[in-house]
Amino acid sequence: MAWIVRLVSLGADGAEHSTDVLRIARPHDLTDLASLGLTLAESKRLLAGLQREIVAAQVRVHAVRRPGCHGCGTACRVKDHRQHTIATLFGQVTVRLPRFRCAGCGMTEAGVAWPPYARSTPELDRLRAQLSALMTYRTAAEVLAQLFPADTGAAHETLRRHTFRVAERLSMPAAAEPATSSEAIVVTLDSTFIRSCEAGERHLEVRIGNAETATGRRQVFGAVAKTDTDLAALIRRGLDAVGRTETTVLTAFTDGCPGLRRILRKAGVVELPILDWFHLAMRLQHLTQVAGGLSSDGPGRAAAKAVIVDEVERLRWRLWNGKATDAGISLARIRAVVHHFRGEPDSRRSVAPSRKLWTALRALNDYLTGQSDRLVDYGARHRAGQRVGTALTEGTANFLVNRRMAKSQQMRWSRRGADRLLQVRCAVYNGTLGTGFGQRFCAANDQHPPEAIAA
Ligand SMILES: [Zn+2]
Repeated sequence: MAWIVRLVSLGADGAEHSTDVLRIARPHDLTDLASLGLTLAESKRLLAGLQREIVAAQVRVHAVRRPGCHGCGTACRVKDHRQHTIATLFGQVTVRLPRFRCAGCGMTEAGVAWPPYARSTPELDRLRAQLSALMTYRTAAEVLAQLFPADTGAAHETLRRHTFRVAERLSMPAAAEPATSSEAIVVTLDSTFIRSCEAGERHLEVRIGNAETATGRRQVFGAVAKTDTDLAALIRRGLDAVGRTETTVLTAFTDGCPGLRRILRKAGVVELPILDWFHLAMRLQHLTQVAGGLSSDGPGRAAAKAVIVDEVERLRWRLWNGKATDAGISLARIRAVVHHFRGEPDSRRSVAPSRKLWTALRALNDYLTGQSDRLVDYGARHRAGQRVGTALTEGTANFLVNRRMAKSQQMRWSRRGADRLLQVRCAVYNGTLGTGFGQRFCAANDQHPPEAIAA
């Protein structure tokens, strides 16, 4: 059995022209399962063949056009021809295109509005960037080579270069789409770290965040610290995209870092950010664990441990309910009994629990002292259905940074390389990479509902 795939073109004048693209042959029976239907190799040949034919026809039609001059409107004449080799999703094509000169004023017309030095179609660029955002450049190159006609695949260096270029185009201010206005927007900003390959640096600071509304509109943004990416501008754009107006109430959450506060202010978020409960809860969790690990040898220590465990719980309650000013009472009560553990030796494996407790207490005390004006009644907010922290951002971090760039990946990043990739990942997340490249991720990836944090 055999088939011929034939492409029939319909001209403007209604004329039909047909070309055979591919011949497919199969055995007369289905004894071999592998002979069922099309193969990948045939599909690649088919797509490459269709692409070649369609492009050739487009070139033929284009070649007889005579555009009018942009300057004086006189019809142009063909000046010369230029050969362009363009990589497309369905194989590389070479097209010979005329350039024109105006018969009136002598101006040169390109005849096409292609970007200078274009070597690939926008769609291929975006697909390369999208795949590179989701997997390593090397894997992305392999996937492309497996699924698309042979010369579509490219070396991973090419993919990296294209991804950077797509990222750089993304950073240009996009035409703001008029979103419906939002009454309230929650902005969160946080930092995380990735391994650096830059000289003299072990880690790079990555700042990420999101802007979201009660109605579920959401935009993420991020930038590697000390790059030319203007994070404040990205935040402003994110706010506009979810409908910020002059009357929108903005609530911000951070981990308390003054650098993040400055960025938010630059982005027009002037209210003091709230210290997010997630970060506070992590510190309290640590304190709870350390307290639980205290020795209860002898009645003195047993009683002291009971007091400490109890006070840590009360401290959590106080902070959750906006009674941060009373945190000092809990800390003082713990300090008053901690002497029962004095002289506790460190084990071979680790520091004595009482010393850990002391360190954790001091760290929490310093943290609270610096942040007292940024602690709120989290319990009341939570009961009112309002957000209490950047928990969503923790999920976003996982997703924007950790899955592709985290320490576990054993990759080291250049400042610029990490930043560019992050821009593409944000665009993929926001669904702004381009036509046909929809949002790949959904909010369901965020794992920390506020209840879980409060518990
Ligand atoms: Zn002219």
